[in-house]
Amino acid sequence: MAPLDQTRKTGSLSNIASRLLAWYDAHHRDLPWRVAPAALARGARPDPYRVWLSEVMLQQTTVEAVKAYFRNFVEKWPTVEALAAAPAEDVMKAWAGLGYYSRARNLKACADLVARRDGGFPDTEAGLRELPGIGAYTAAAIAAIAFDRPAAVVDGNVERVMTRLYSIETPLGEAKPEIRALVEKLVPQARPGDFAQAMMDLGATICTPKRPRCMLCPVREDCSAILGGDPERFPVRLPKDEKPLRKGAAFVAERGDGAVLLRKRPDKGLLGGMTEVPTTAWTARADGATTADAAPFPADWRHAGRIGHVFTHFALELDVFHAPVGGDAPAGHFWSLAHEISGEALPTVMKKVIEAAIPGATKARRMK
Ligand code: SF4
Repeated sequence: MAPLDQTRKTGSLSNIASRLLAWYDAHHRDLPWRVAPAALARGARPDPYRVWLSEVMLQQTTVEAVKAYFRNFVEKWPTVEALAAAPAEDVMKAWAGLGYYSRARNLKACADLVARRDGGFPDTEAGLRELPGIGAYTAAAIAAIAFDRPAAVVDGNVERVMTRLYSIETPLGEAKPEIRALVEKLVPQARPGDFAQAMMDLGATICTPKRPRCMLCPVREDCSAILGGDPERFPVRLPKDEKPLRKGAAFVAERGDGAVLLRKRPDKGLLGGMTEVPTTAWTARADGATTADAAPFPADWRHAGRIGHVFTHFALELDVFHAPVGGDAPAGHFWSLAHEISGEALPTVMKKVIEAAIPGATKARRMK
């Protein structure tokens, strides 16, 4: 960090939280799981169940994508007790499309535990971290937002804001302890929950990855990156390693009435417990099985296209084959009726596969 930035940092630390909170009071996002500052001032309190649910969902995807899933979950299961009482399969189905399915299993395990626990969710970071599926970030977020604990909540948005405020030149991976230490210093004793959410909102709406709107920023006077004239330069990142590419084939067997042949993946491992069409193994070998010869049974398989999907550790390319098939489902498989497919626990990659073979099949409730 340059000496100039250090001076700015020490000179302005105490102002940042108050400027940010004033901005948040006027410009916070309305989110279905959030209790707005005015309501908090009137005595409303966040529901830890809703805060927990939203934070687990937000680890996977964007706020916009999470809203519909969140509303669906709280409509179906308005309390942690209701979620605990739900069949695991129903929860997996409602989660389908959010990705990282081990987290859906942990969500259910956590609900089961909290529902049996006197007093519901623990109200400290340490207590929360003992629950399934709750890591350091989620524990800090719940402790701050649901229980107004002065926890340092550092997500991707906050990292971006902090690296810009203080012109942190260290690449992001190595800079995390420094960022956390700076956030810990910034967290105010009054309204720490609103402060955490204000930082997130600032990163999401003003201090955006591209073209930050610095003119509207409540902490621009304290920002070091703006002096350098190129805030987009932060956070500094090392060049990414390319992900390995795996290949395979997927087979969409369609019955005359529009039903599609599915099976359940093993409970453990990638996409554990989710639903899929028959596929080959996904292999990194250049000569991996990607043709109709690898089909699980003979049929008039036709190539319906190729789809790509990127997982955390590898990219996947699947050749999709489609065939009309009749008769009983083979052992370990089942027919999903056309109007039921959209309700199956299909991960996004499998939705892409089925859509390549039967456009619209996973979106609308088809009757055939
Ligand atoms: S002034 Fe610009 S770069 Fe600095 S924190 Fe605000 S939006 Fe981000």
